[in-house]
Amino acid sequence: MQSPVVNQAMDILRLLREVTEGQDAISEKLEKIVKIIAGKMNADAAACYVAVDDYTLELFASYGFNHGVSHKISLRFGEGLVGEVAQNNRYVAAADAWKHPKFSYKQEMGEDDYKSFLGVPLIRWSRSIGVLTIQSREVHEYSQLEIDIMETIAMVLSEMIASEEMSDYKKMLIKERGIIDKEKSKGVSLSKGYGMGAAVVHRRRRVVTKIFAEDKDKEMHRLEIAYRQMNDDLEKKFTSTQLGIGEHVEILDAYRMFAQDKGWYKKISGNVQGGLTAEAAIERAYEDMWNRLSATTDAYLKERLHDLRDVSDRLQSYLSGDFGTIEKVDANDIIVVAQTMGPADLMDYDYTKIRGLIIEDGTPTMHVAIVARALGIPVVAKIKGIFEEIKTGELVAVDGNDGYVYRNPSQQVQEKFKAKILEKQKLQQKLSELRTKPSETLDGVKISLYINVGLSFDLDYIESTNCDGIGLYRTEIPFMASENMPDVERQVGYYRELMDKAGGRKVIFRSLDVGSDKLLPYWSNMGEENPAIGWRSIRITLDRRAILRKQVRAFLRAAAGKELNVMFPMISNLSEFEEARETLMLELEKEKRKGREVPEKVNVGLMIEVPAIVFQLDEILPKADFISIGTNDLAQFVFACDRGNPRLTERYDVLSGPFLSMMELIVSKAAKYGVYCSVCGEMAGSPIEAMALIGLGYRNLSMSGSSFGRVKSMVRSLNVSEVSDYVRMLLKSGKKSVRPQLISYAYDHGIEIY
Ligand code: PEP
Ligand code: MG
Repeated sequence: MQSPVVNQAMDILRLLREVTEGQDAISEKLEKIVKIIAGKMNADAAACYVAVDDYTLELFASYGFNHGVSHKISLRFGEGLVGEVAQNNRYVAAADAWKHPKFSYKQEMGEDDYKSFLGVPLIRWSRSIGVLTIQSREVHEYSQLEIDIMETIAMVLSEMIASEEMSDYKKMLIKERGIIDKEKSKGVSLSKGYGMGAAVVHRRRRVVTKIFAEDKDKEMHRLEIAYRQMNDDLEKKFTSTQLGIGEHVEILDAYRMFAQDKGWYKKISGNVQGGLTAEAAIERAYEDMWNRLSATTDAYLKERLHDLRDVSDRLQSYLSGDFGTIEKVDANDIIVVAQTMGPADLMDYDYTKIRGLIIEDGTPTMHVAIVARALGIPVVAKIKGIFEEIKTGELVAVDGNDGYVYRNPSQQVQEKFKAKILEKQKLQQKLSELRTKPSETLDGVKISLYINVGLSFDLDYIESTNCDGIGLYRTEIPFMASENMPDVERQVGYYRELMDKAGGRKVIFRSLDVGSDKLLPYWSNMGEENPAIGWRSIRITLDRRAILRKQVRAFLRAAAGKELNVMFPMISNLSEFEEARETLMLELEKEKRKGREVPEKVNVGLMIEVPAIVFQLDEILPKADFISIGTNDLAQFVFACDRGNPRLTERYDVLSGPFLSMMELIVSKAAKYGVYCSVCGEMAGSPIEAMALIGLGYRNLSMSGSSFGRVKSMVRSLNVSEVSDYVRMLLKSGKKSVRPQLISYAYDHGIEIY
């Protein structure tokens, strides 16, 4: 004889099969199914929620609730009773749901009349893919029998939710909502942010048709006037634009010098004297330079070639009097679309109106991208053919966060962009108000927040964030931006500028961390098979000791009379650290012997980036003044997962039991030895990750200047003692990621994680 569970379940399953095998659309099938379940389970209401991503459940079908609520209700994993079921992959049965601590009331749903609640998870490959619920008006204790029946039904429903038909239905919904647009193109983000406006196609280059001049003097005269006019206008433009300070200003200055360069002008006028028109003379001067420099691998010289192209095009415009489309669009919000662009080109527009930039041939190191970042303009590059396709005046939206461009976006997409832009403005306002407030949690724990610095552009963040200092100075960045290896003097210049800008704040210098993806233009690429685990970072500077000696000498001189903090990257064992420290100490002695002023205090630390060092903390911590954890590299080595491989980005999560346990081990060892410990990898700059780190005991975090406000805002809404218990409990989780739990925790506790 069959058990009652099987009997009743079989009865329901037979009815369900009739529905699933029918011809209805999947949405109707689901509606019918929940109605059958409510009826057969003697419930007043039933609902089916489906996971639409890793964190969100959406109501797909319901019976006994307000009409038309399907697809209007979403919940996070962990939110309310339904979210609780999905998060823990386990049923929840409540005789009176209103009394359950996890109950969250959704007015739109119309569940005021209901008391009892039973929810079971829909599971596939041990992951929740949805939740099935029943509810009744009466207070009702669910029996084990009822729970078993619901779980059996859930098994069958799970198959349906995981089916191809469902997946097509989900895709269709996404499309209908305008999340996917047929006019959406994927590119590469060069500057973050969202913007929408009328396209302005930036077209300046034209083909020179008249090559030979009839009257040399007349031609010279045209050239002189155009050249003078261009430089006068550039001068005016730069002096009237509010640019602040930073690398972008240096770039624009260099550009102006270029435009005024006598050698270049001489070359063009020589060509005119030789019989060419002014236009052809400019092109010939450019081609000469191009022939000489185009084969170079030197990034600096390549950029100069870009600048020359830009200045040449600009001069052509002055000769012809045709400035392209610049003045032709009458809109307050514009998106500039260019094949390529020079940094000064941006200044041709009223930059306060530029909401986005699309550069077909753009690269991240391109000067115009750096200037755009400084001005807060989102930039997307590398969408093949987009320059020819977009027409001036067309409505375009730029998503600089994920690198998308939308042409003529649907109403829904426009609404989304407007909301994002507004959200960002509000956030910016809120974050700037935080500047003078202390970085302290609700229960009075001080969290020191530092910024990471590379480009001199980042220095502006010291003042704007009012940070506690610089937790990581990536010294290789100025080396990478330089045309040749900077000597000690030049290095002292970089480091002193930083010390001066930091005022009395703490500064941590990291020794040269080149190799892997950070190549110096004047150093040949070794062509290694596995550069991330190859000859890089401290391995190079210990083998080429002169480089390290010169660098630490420059540190010592730049910090004369002040506190100097130096750390070494990619240390894999104690002896590497001792060798590097020894090099620094020998240089210190030499400086003293030469009678030079030395720092008043020298602290020597290391980065924790290689897993092997985590197992030598007891040996290394007594010898180190501080440690800083480079979670970007540490995670790539712990998970054996290339940090730059986009295919792997979703596969492993630093917010998972093993990685968090490792982080906890490090911070507790540092505390045991009384050694200052910070995190300077990307993990520190994301509010949810930073929250977990604080829960584990971290009190010093260093991040990019642009993340600072969001992390500070999280800190000020956090209660350390509470989060600490919660994060420690998650360490034992076997889940691939505990991110959903942490996000739910933050929501439930009012912690700000924008
Ligand atoms: C890190 O690895 O986390 C780190 C801060 O160093 P970089 O990102 O410069 O390798
Ligand atoms: Mg690193």
